Amino acid sequence: MELTVIGCGDAFASGGRFNSCYLLDTSHGRLMIDCGATSPHALKRAGVRISAVDAILISHCHGDHFGGLPSLVLDRMFIDRTEKPMEIFGPPGIESRFESLMESVYPGILGARKPFEIIFRDLHPGFTIEWRGLLVEAFEVDHFSGSPSLALSICDGDKQFSFSGDSGFCGGVIAAGRGADLYLVECSTYSTRVDMHLDYQRLAAKFSSIGAKRYLLTHMGDEMLAAVDRIDPRICMAAADGLKVTI
Ligand SMILES: [Zn+2]
Ligand SMILES: [Zn+2]
Repeated sequence: MELTVIGCGDAFASGGRFNSCYLLDTSHGRLMIDCGATSPHALKRAGVRISAVDAILISHCHGDHFGGLPSLVLDRMFIDRTEKPMEIFGPPGIESRFESLMESVYPGILGARKPFEIIFRDLHPGFTIEWRGLLVEAFEVDHFSGSPSLALSICDGDKQFSFSGDSGFCGGVIAAGRGADLYLVECSTYSTRVDMHLDYQRLAAKFSSIGAKRYLLTHMGDEMLAAVDRIDPRICMAAADGLKVTI
């Protein structure tokens, strides 16, 4: 598997980074993970055609993680036109959250004729789904977003990639990353404790109990970006927009 960081910013676009969006290329297909409000811009800059993505996984329904979906649908309707269905997986209720968002920003467009179908699938915490032979497991994490917020692990039978989504410290963050070959984990601050988000000092203290082989820190705010040279280089890397990591 190979991970490409399209955007690793937080809700404030700290450091000028694009909102949360990653591509995971596997021998089973290409997944997009999250699609924040600025992700359509970032995808175009990276030269990624929307129709080249086989499924989109959404960790939670905050604007910096799913606010870019309407623009992707519009792109598929008017620019990158193919009949290939759009598969969107996310927390329970993702379809109605998407419809509310779409209706709010582009009223009436969902009812217009489209050359493709949008297929939604709920990811229920505590359950694993199979998609084209990949196993996708969802874990509920501590982050209020109006629907359950998820951490995800994706396994191709050989390697495991995990993503924490956004979360405060909780069992879901630990369980999702357990044994991962690469754990993409949010790290909003260095030492300041914030409800609903992780700080590096508490996260690093849990590295051994999580047991991932490598950690890729993302969703970094200004405090964490200023402290990035203090992370443990033996096990930890800092994400950057455009970074590619082989898993
Ligand atoms: Zn976020
Ligand atoms: Zn969030």
